[in-house]
Amino acid sequence: MTAARIDDTHDPQLRSWVESANAAGTDFPIQNLPFGRFRETGDAHWRGGVAIGDQVLDLHRAGLLPGPGLDTVMRLRPGERADLRRTLSQGLAAGSARHAAWRDALVPMARAQLGLPCQIGDYTDFYVGIHHATAVGKLFRPDNPLLPNYKWVPIGYHGRASTVNVSGHAFARPQGQIKGPQDDAPRLAPSQRLDIELELGIFIGRPNAQGQPIAIDEAEGHVFGLALFNDWSARDVQAWEYQPLGPFLAKNFASTVSPWVVTLEALAPFRQPFVRPAGDPAPLPYLDSPAVREHGAFAIALEVWLQTEAMRRSGHTGDCISRSGFSEAAYWTVAQLVAHHTVNGCALQSGDLFGSGTLSGPAREQAGSLLELSNGGKQPITLSNGEQRSFLADGDTVTLRGHCERPGFRRIGFGECTGTVLPAGARMPAGA
Ligand code: CA
Repeated sequence: MTAARIDDTHDPQLRSWVESANAAGTDFPIQNLPFGRFRETGDAHWRGGVAIGDQVLDLHRAGLLPGPGLDTVMRLRPGERADLRRTLSQGLAAGSARHAAWRDALVPMARAQLGLPCQIGDYTDFYVGIHHATAVGKLFRPDNPLLPNYKWVPIGYHGRASTVNVSGHAFARPQGQIKGPQDDAPRLAPSQRLDIELELGIFIGRPNAQGQPIAIDEAEGHVFGLALFNDWSARDVQAWEYQPLGPFLAKNFASTVSPWVVTLEALAPFRQPFVRPAGDPAPLPYLDSPAVREHGAFAIALEVWLQTEAMRRSGHTGDCISRSGFSEAAYWTVAQLVAHHTVNGCALQSGDLFGSGTLSGPAREQAGSLLELSNGGKQPITLSNGEQRSFLADGDTVTLRGHCERPGFRRIGFGECTGTVLPAGARMPAGA
């Protein structure tokens, strides 16, 4: 497999001449170096940058890219991207000869507007969270929660890219067809069961030609990196519309992605073996390889934070309502998703986005959706200020956070993925 190796760019002793990158709690130390796009007032175009502490390094101004966009970075082969990572690491390291030249290519993040990491091509949402699939299945089919194909095929559906927003946006509560169990007929109404889905986004970097499947050991070479992803969902709309073809309008009114793409190179120290529980079927050969078994998984800690409108008014920063992790939650690896998506000859393009599916841990309090946290809406959760939630209320702000930690390595983070629910019919502020 083309898995990135641990090298001197992961050295925990490495410090940057950008002082804020050396702060203990930063998500963006010199060992991370995630890519994204930003602009300042007056900029006509988005510019490709790298997050370092509380600053953004403009890649074009630093002389690292021929133009402002990130397209060329996304299409790099893994070895070439590792070279770029080394150049960035050396240039941003304390004592670097590039300090004087690159200082003028820094923009404070607080002054930059962060955009989507790229123009998103197609968006596919998977369903790799086995605890989520089991818990949700139980709500509908108590005796047979997990459908028989789940352990053989990575389940997914095609979504819409046009309603994926970058972190920091607000959107109106969606309306849709809703039919309660006692209703004779459906009605059009604002969703009363608006929910979150804690997911990771997987950005495709290098495309494949139509008709040419990507082999499992080549798969990670086509991945640009990972970001946080909230796939907001209207559960009441979903319940009425989802059979027989799957999710539709319950899922495509808004999704939120964090602005910084953490590369697989940055994640190299946080890989884990991919193991199936004893007795489960082995993946079919096109989804299996020694490399996948040895280090196919990523240990990424994930959190969901909720700040209600009342909290915001009283200066309360919000509650962490769930903690989960990618490797405990996921039944399939990133490489398996890429190999499976292309096995039929489907062409992936640079900028395509996969959602992982809701990444719930095994316990109720590790759930990545309110549907699970509130047991289908029957047991509301109580927040620290006494408010209760079964599903989201108008004014609620949800923030996803993620980070990787391992003894002997520097902690790296994913930044934030934040969105706010506005009342139904509210005009949406112009976004990024
Ligand atoms: Ca989803």
